[in-house]
Amino acid sequence: MSDQTNFKSGFVSIIGRPNVGKSTFLNCVLGTKIAAISNKPNTTRNKILGIKNIDNAQIMFLDTPGITQGKGVIGRSMVNVTMSSVFESDIVLILVDIKNALTLGDRNIIESTEKPMILLINKIDAFKKSRILNVISQAQKYDEKLLDIIPISAINNDGMELVYKAIISNLAEGPKYFSEDLITDKSERFIVSEIIREKIFEFTHKEVPYRTAVLIDEFNEVPEKNIININAIVYVERPNQKGIVIGDKGKVLKDIGTQARKDIEQLLGSHVYLEIWVKVKENWTSKEHLIKDFGYCN
Ligand code: GDP
Ligand code: MG
Repeated sequence: MSDQTNFKSGFVSIIGRPNVGKSTFLNCVLGTKIAAISNKPNTTRNKILGIKNIDNAQIMFLDTPGITQGKGVIGRSMVNVTMSSVFESDIVLILVDIKNALTLGDRNIIESTEKPMILLINKIDAFKKSRILNVISQAQKYDEKLLDIIPISAINNDGMELVYKAIISNLAEGPKYFSEDLITDKSERFIVSEIIREKIFEFTHKEVPYRTAVLIDEFNEVPEKNIININAIVYVERPNQKGIVIGDKGKVLKDIGTQARKDIEQLLGSHVYLEIWVKVKENWTSKEHLIKDFGYCN
């Protein structure tokens, strides 16, 4: 087949310290939200695959929980997810936040990764050009290890074309792994649960968001009414956390539901009726089988 000649494909993992913008980057690549984003570290728990078809290439991006100190069973599981993504990938994108790049953590990641790497300096929208040049010159110390250094703003879709170009020029020829209409290997149910989790990170604080899991209990399309009924269960570890997620007169849960519904409607292109229940499942974050049940370990 003529359009398959010189076709390139490969796996690209996205790593970096918490909060540098890895999930934002993946959503920007795909032009839609599939990964939960928040200004709190360690929001992402899974490896999320995003598929980008561009020119004569297919790039499989892997968003990861990032490199962090793994605390408890779920923390360790998140580090394992990141390590296995790096192992599976052809190219590693290392994201750093221009605000404090290159931190010791950033340097450690660059020095310890033994794969072809591209360094992305993210959030350039928030800083002057002189700062960008300064970070680039710091990064040039690692020139031998890096395929490229590219400043970007994932939130503004700035610099992304250069990133695709750099990736494609370093990929080997390969097959088209996924059909072009797929943007992720995750189910709609999973993405919906991630959107709800993102809102929990937005509207609750301290330990609470880290102690929640979201399960989609019901996902029913009613095509004749162009509506999808979704029932979600938010699990927390203790009764007081349940109170916090629900909030005074139900206000917090209402905010979570309203914001989540908007994003889910955009994702699914349909009206959504969303009901969220909050339940207690004691100490789920320290129980391996529950972390698996909730789908946070692949
Ligand atoms: P992750 O932990 O690395 O996945 O980071 P997230 O994608 O969850 O983003 C962390 C925070 O950085 C969020 O508040 C994002 O809105 C913000 N952020 C991400 N990319 C950019 C960017 O290009 N510019 C600015 N100003 N903020 C960004
Ligand atoms: Mg993330």
